[in-house]
Amino acid sequence: MAQAGIHGIVGLAVRRWVPKREWLMLGIVLGSIVPDTDNLAVAVATLAGWSTKGLHRTFTHSLFTVAAVIALFYVVAWIVRRPRWGYLGLGLGIGVLMHILLDLVVWFNGVQILWPLPSWINLWEGVTPPEWWSKLMLPAEFLFFTLFFVALGMMARKQGSNSDYIRTLSIWAAIQGVLFVVFTVLVYTMARGFIIPFGAIYLLSLGLAHGVVVRMRETIEMAAGCRSCHPR
Ligand SMILES: [Zn+2]
Repeated sequence: MAQAGIHGIVGLAVRRWVPKREWLMLGIVLGSIVPDTDNLAVAVATLAGWSTKGLHRTFTHSLFTVAAVIALFYVVAWIVRRPRWGYLGLGLGIGVLMHILLDLVVWFNGVQILWPLPSWINLWEGVTPPEWWSKLMLPAEFLFFTLFFVALGMMARKQGSNSDYIRTLSIWAAIQGVLFVVFTVLVYTMARGFIIPFGAIYLLSLGLAHGVVVRMRETIEMAAGCRSCHPR
């Protein structure tokens, strides 16, 4: 799995090619980071002492889920007669699809791409990364949340959008930077007991990233040229 922050940054990077439709770009960025919330299921199963098999990179990383999300949001858009819900769903679908492709290419793990069918694809089959690398990939989540928040802040400054939130965003970015340093030290020094505090703070940070994206929607929409799409 690539880190959630990398997915967020890649989601932002496609903005130039995204048509100007209300909530479409917002959906793409949200869809890019949402699949790894399946780690919440992993955490619940771990704490309850259940098997975590089949919980990560499965039901949230499936092409069937992409199709279902797009269809569901189109139905909602049709019922409430607001096309933006359809664009949000389309964006979510595109974002999840980009997440799946990036997960396949980056960092050694497989994805059950047609869950619930048996369909694990691992382009890195047989490659075992060194232990120091696998360890570093955990705190690196916080490093990439920092970079994701910094990227959003830079876009907002450039566009003059979300000016009332930039300061708070800088504080969140700084906190994520500190967490990266602290957990990098801990991952190499703690003999045991690392994964539970790490997992808890990772999940909180992932939740925070979703909140930040929704809070920064004016910036994200404007970045796709959708200045008039979003009421201030
Ligand atoms: Zn993933």
